[in-house]
Amino acid sequence: ILDIQDLKKTYNSGDRHLTVLEGINFSLQAGDTCSIVGPSGSGKTTLLGLCAGLDRASSGSVILNGVKLDNLSEDERAQVRNQYVGFIFQNFQLIPTLTAMENVMVPLELRGERNVQRQAMELLGRVGLAERHDHYPTQLSGGEQQRVSLARAFSNRPTILFADEPTGNLDEETGQRVEQLLFDLNRESGTTLVLVTHDLDLAEKTQRIIRIKGGNAVSDTGAPVSVSRDEL
Ligand code: ATP
Repeated sequence: ILDIQDLKKTYNSGDRHLTVLEGINFSLQAGDTCSIVGPSGSGKTTLLGLCAGLDRASSGSVILNGVKLDNLSEDERAQVRNQYVGFIFQNFQLIPTLTAMENVMVPLELRGERNVQRQAMELLGRVGLAERHDHYPTQLSGGEQQRVSLARAFSNRPTILFADEPTGNLDEETGQRVEQLLFDLNRESGTTLVLVTHDLDLAEKTQRIIRIKGGNAVSDTGAPVSVSRDEL
């Protein structure tokens, strides 16, 4: 479902160049669960964005569900994202002028679905927020915003879901609830999960762990790998 070949990313600003990823290789099968771990600043968020087609690599290949993203325009990548991808951002990225329900409705409307209100309410119910449907993001706690962002990602019925620190900044109980929702989605719908996390316990619950160190993925054995705490 995801094939990453010799992926490199350099950020250029003016005459400064920062090479973050220096040749990442891994591939995931449909239905896999995978964590990306590594020290702060090692390029985990960058890698997630490239895999999801949010940004373009400097070189190398991303093949998502058989579609090669490398030479696609921004619009074409957006189409691929709308078709296959769900994304949960570190800072939620809810639209501040829309209510919880309206935020969840956006992807449904983009897909031209019917009964979008009813579907959005069902999704909010799934994350335990039906009663807050008419609240704006600023009227919700961080954990509640994270759950709205989860409902929005689910609404796309993604083939593959990318989540950047999905349980970061949440209290333990809310974090576990979010975690449960992610694994339920994987189990019930076969959605492939790719998580960036500093949470060792969460990482060890996924089938695969990709470690980034010095710009390279240092382990991709295809089997569960244990990580030491100082790598997270
Ligand atoms: P953390 O665990 O702290 O979230 P990370 O492993 O996710 O970090 P990234 O956010 O991918 O790391 O950032 C990797 C490096 O690239 C950092 O040094 C960061 O400052 C730099 N970087 C990220 N985005 C950009 C950008 N748009 N322009 C320039 N540099 C960037």
